[in-house]
Amino acid sequence: MPEADSQTRTKPAVLILLGPPGAGKGTQARMLEDKFGLVQLSTGDLLRAAVNAGTDAGKRAKAAMDAGELVSDEIVLEILKDRMQDPDVARGVILDGFPRTTGQAQALDALLEGQGMSIGAAISIEVEDDAMVRRVSGRYTCATCGEGYHDEFKQPAVAGVCDKCGGTEFTRRADDNAETVAARLSAYHAQTAPLIAYYDKRGVLSRVDGMGSITAIAEELGAIVDKVTA
Ligand code: ADP
Ligand code: ADP
Ligand code: ZN
Repeated sequence: MPEADSQTRTKPAVLILLGPPGAGKGTQARMLEDKFGLVQLSTGDLLRAAVNAGTDAGKRAKAAMDAGELVSDEIVLEILKDRMQDPDVARGVILDGFPRTTGQAQALDALLEGQGMSIGAAISIEVEDDAMVRRVSGRYTCATCGEGYHDEFKQPAVAGVCDKCGGTEFTRRADDNAETVAARLSAYHAQTAPLIAYYDKRGVLSRVDGMGSITAIAEELGAIVDKVTA
């Protein structure tokens, strides 16, 4: 469990999960968190929390999120920098859904340098566009613990009961509908996909086939984490 792993680990890992909406970033980040004691840092989750809490940043982010467009770098960085100050981040982080633009990637480099950390791996989870709509429109989440499920691909062992926490309430995201997904996919291709080349040039890129099973992908990612934290 986390304690044993952090004793043997010599370097705090910073992992980046790149991939379009529905690629499985959140699913895999949570599994890596459980297995390696790393901290999942999802800018989507942080932004949704800010919107729900009605913070100033949340109010400024809401319209872009509803439309499936990217929130401005300024707002995202404000939220991320805040979270990066928390002490648990020193254990190593899995960045899920960040960076999503070249500007964010450059800001991340500067931020990590200031914290004495560096990127261990940027992992591109590669999936077909056609699969995305199906993945995203069947997605739902436990309202209590945040565990992710899918109508077809990942159902709880007992219908209506969360495997992780026993919760019986589930939520669906307002932006997980066919029209918004199309906008989110085009934002991915135009603004985020160029980061694959950015990290390839830096020699930290790995590509993983995101069309495989959740457990097969988890094994591949686990092997990458083992390598960068050894
Ligand atoms: P992302 O965070 O990249 O948007 P999620 O991890 O939320 O993606 O996954 C989107 C949906 O697809 C969820 O309902 C999840 O349960 C399901 N899912 C994730 N990975 C796979 C996979 N490899 N095969 C089938 N379904 C998956
Ligand atoms: P998914 O992985 O399914 O695309 P996220 O939860 O990561 O969804 O993001 C949901 C929405 O939050 C995005 O459509 C976008 O509006 C906003 N968002 C999340 N992360 C970022 C980011 N790094 N930069 C800009 N906008 C972001
Ligand atoms: Zn739960």
